[in-house]
Formats: sequence, structure tokens, C-alpha cells
Amino acid sequence: MRDPFGRDIDYLRISVTDRCNLRCIYCIPEGMEWIEKADILSYEEIERLVRILGRLGLRRLRLTGGEPTVRRQLPRLVEMLAAIEGTEEISLSTNGLKLTELAAPLRRAGLSRVNVSLDSLDEGCFREITRGGDLRKVLAGIEAAEKEGLLPIKINVVVMRGKNDGEITDFALLTQQRPWNVRFIEMMPLEGNVGEQEARYVSTDEVRRSLEALGGLEPAEAVRGNGPATYFRYPGAPGTVGFISPLNHNFCDRCNRLRLTANGRLRLCLFGDNEIDLATPLRAGRGEEEIAEKVLGGLMAKPQRHYLELGSTASRLIALSQVGG
Ligand code: SAM
Repeated sequence: MRDPFGRDIDYLRISVTDRCNLRCIYCIPEGMEWIEKADILSYEEIERLVRILGRLGLRRLRLTGGEPTVRRQLPRLVEMLAAIEGTEEISLSTNGLKLTELAAPLRRAGLSRVNVSLDSLDEGCFREITRGGDLRKVLAGIEAAEKEGLLPIKINVVVMRGKNDGEITDFALLTQQRPWNVRFIEMMPLEGNVGEQEARYVSTDEVRRSLEALGGLEPAEAVRGNGPATYFRYPGAPGTVGFISPLNHNFCDRCNRLRLTANGRLRLCLFGDNEIDLATPLRAGRGEEEIAEKVLGGLMAKPQRHYLELGSTASRLIALSQVGG
């Protein structure tokens, strides 16, 4: 599948729910509206859409949300998607809270690897950012994922001034002890957080400068995956440090992805509001050909890039959890 700007689109992020067991301050604003339960696609409906999209070339899959592990029997969905002919890889974005119980069944079902969000290594700060999360459970979850071979382990850190920016070095030093790939991410502006984003935004250039000042960081080969991070390594370190810079270094020219929301919309860009409603034809019993045509026609509207700026968002999106961040 190639879009009008010559980008090959082969990566599908599937939001299985907009619900989450955390309330991260930059992600889920108070009073957010949730998708009606009846509108959330069943596993069978997701499987049917992934089959159609897979035939069009979207073969590398990531399950996300909301928090995907709060959806009941997630391993069953992984098994269903792994059984689709042509599926190349299934990965998971999670906050890690439920990985101690789910890492093994997910692995058995066919999951390849996990990305875990972890914004602080300090229990109190973690609790504050996540509005109540238990850091120890997340760390135990990461260990469980590692033990089950859900590799490479990627840790996502959204850097916020005055919250966790004092922990950048601690996170980077972790990569000298563990084979983890710690990726620093710039906080993005959404309808629900623009003021907060302007106040707390830290560019990845700033993070990188402060790590380089400590010495030793060298460019590293890309870590297996489908994302836009650039990687560095300390000499001899088992892990890497990565930077994801949606604002400071726009990477839309390398965009390879579409997003399927929990209520069956195919979102063409995280920050452009164009989406294709696939739930309606699916639930009306339309044929696979017709749905595939709709996708191919809609793909022509994939925007060239987003126009995010500090303190201003280019979309009506309130939270990433609504589309699958
Ligand atoms: N619950 C899962 C998790 O924690 O990874 C998956 C969904 S979460 C929306 C996916 C990623 O989006 C997380 O790494 C989170 O930190 C990131 N995220 C959410 N809002 C963000 C924002 N405003 N700016 C940057 N990253 C954001």
C-alpha cells in the first residue's frame, strides 16, 4: 500500500479499548468522554478488519489503547491475529501493570514484543504522573516480559519539565545495566493538555545535550521495530537510548502507519482528523471487496504531515487514548 506521497504503509496500530487503569496527567484529561461499549469492536470484528487490511499490505501489527491489557482475554485476540495468513509481527504497547500475569499467555498466543510506558523511577513521582500507579508492579511486569522473551524491551519516557526531567540520567544509566531500550519522547499537544504541554515540553535535543555532556554516547544501529526513534549507546552497554521527536524533528516523511480506533475508524494521521469509518460497513454486512475499496480510496487523503506546534494542536483530539497512541 503506497500513499500519494510515496510512503509505503505496512504498519497498523490497533486500539482495542479507550479505557485505561491509569490516568497519566498528560494523556487522560479529567471529564474525558469514553466510547460507548456497544461501539467497541468485538475481537471477531477486529480480526475481520485485520484480515482485509492485511491483504492490502498492513502486516505488522501493534495492539494499543487506552490500556490494551484491561480488555478481557487479550491473549485470545493475539492468537486470532497471529493465525491470519501474512501477519508478520504482533507487538504491544502497555503501561506494564498487568504484565506479570499476562506476559506468559501473551507470548504463547504469538506476541513478539512489548513497549512499556514508564515516566519515572521514583515511586512518588510515578504515582503523581499516573494519578495512582504502582511503580513496583510495572518494574515486575517488565521483568516478566523479559523473562518470557518479549524482546527487545522498549521503555517509553515522556519528558516533562518539573516532573521527571531530573531523572533523564537515571533512565539513561539503566541502559548500562539492562538490555532495555529507553526512548525519550516529546510531549505532544492535544486538546486536553495544550496549556500543560506548553509549560512542560522538553525537546529531545535538550535531553540529548544533557546526556552528551556526561560523555560516551555513540550512535547505535536501529533497534528492531517500526518506529521513528534514533538510537545511541554507551560503550559496551547492553541497552540503548532513543529519541522520538514529533515536534523538534518532524518524521512524517517516514510515516508507515495507519491506526484503527477501538470503534472501528481507520485514522490516517495521529493529528489530522481524517478517518475512514469501517465499523458501519462492517456491521452492515458489506463484503470484503467493498471495505477494501473504501480503505484504498480513503488512503488518498492521508496528509503529508502534521502541523503541531508548541502549545497548539492540529487536531480535535483530546487524548491519545481515544485513537491508540
Ligand atoms: N496504555 C499504553 C501505554 O501506556 O503505552 C498504550 C496507550 S498510550 C496512549 C501510548 C503512548 O502514548 C504512551 O507511551 C504514552 O506515554 C504516550 N502519550 C500519551 N499522551 C501523550 C502526549 N500528549 N505526548 C506524548 N506521548 C503521549
